[in-house]
Amino acid sequence: MTNPIQSDHQAEAASAAVNRRNLLRGAAAIAATAVTVKAASAATVTPFGETGVPTRSTERLPLGPLSGSRYPDSHLESLKKPKVSFGPSGFPAFAGTMAVERVATGFRWAEGPVYFPAGRYVLFSDIPNNRIMRYSEDDGHLSVFRQPSMNSNGNTIDREGRLITCEHSGRRVTRTELDGSITIIADKYNGKKLNSPNDAVVASDGSIWFTDPVYGIGGNYEGIKAAPEQEKHNVYRVDPKSGDVKVVVDDFVEPNGITFSPDEKKLYVIDTGFTDGPDNPSHIRVFDVDVGAGKVSNGKVFAEMPKPSITDGMRCDTDGRIWCSVGWGDPNEDGVRCYAPDGDLLGKIHIPETVANLCFGGTYRNRLYICGSTSLYAVYTSVQGAMKP
Ligand code: MG
Repeated sequence: MTNPIQSDHQAEAASAAVNRRNLLRGAAAIAATAVTVKAASAATVTPFGETGVPTRSTERLPLGPLSGSRYPDSHLESLKKPKVSFGPSGFPAFAGTMAVERVATGFRWAEGPVYFPAGRYVLFSDIPNNRIMRYSEDDGHLSVFRQPSMNSNGNTIDREGRLITCEHSGRRVTRTELDGSITIIADKYNGKKLNSPNDAVVASDGSIWFTDPVYGIGGNYEGIKAAPEQEKHNVYRVDPKSGDVKVVVDDFVEPNGITFSPDEKKLYVIDTGFTDGPDNPSHIRVFDVDVGAGKVSNGKVFAEMPKPSITDGMRCDTDGRIWCSVGWGDPNEDGVRCYAPDGDLLGKIHIPETVANLCFGGTYRNRLYICGSTSLYAVYTSVQGAMKP
């Protein structure tokens, strides 16, 4: 028979040994983590400023396919009836052998992705960390493209392959030339500073269209706190020849994401005014547009978001479908929505974080890159992004 006291002592000793082992294992794990982070930082990231330390490590949000993404991936939801007996089908953008992946993580707030086909990389803003990141899709390499970035937000690419960037703390829209120099495209209207340019799109005639809400000057976190000088939160167009900045629409509460239909006959603009009050809009508006004249008409609501969710950014595919972000509300709605040109909701991509913006990339412009809070996600689709630089 076992002596109960001895047994207790043995149990305590065993427990202490286990605790020591766990402690040592934990210390080793922490040390290993530190080495991993340090090595990764040394290899890929330039020194950070005060807010520059990644908030989350890859140990907390693992890279690769999301958990539960057995084919067909339940993160891809078709709202149309399946035409075949397997896969999410019914919605031709999704196939049974596609899965949502987390391809990079460790950001405070990722937004404004743009794909550069010549280099096969995605640039996107990490706004509070005041940097633009670069994700290379050939080998998954992640690095800092620019820091400080003037708290950049939306990025896009013009028809010559140059980067167009909206800057919160710069309160301007810039173009990065092919030699790396930076040209200011717009920083004033009517002699007063812009509020905080948020997102932009370039038309085929070279005109640059951008939105100017006040998000980047509300505090010192994602920009620099300042009083807005533009009373109205406008959508602007920059003339490709004269560089003149003109108002296109002036009745938004907070204009945000912006894109054209592939034929440039429609202009879509998001209003995230809901952030300023519950009775304000959380929707996408669509206009008939005369790109050369810089005029829009027949504005109407294209798609309402399920409040309190908002959509922040969007892109169009070659068939005119609108792909938009969703976040900030019901977590079940976090992700991406795809609408037909007539406003019919076709499908959803479920992402485990609030999503801000997205862009098409990949060799065939069929890979959707999605900025979701602290991470960059990617998923192949069967469609192609409309914009062709
Ligand atoms: Mg935005």
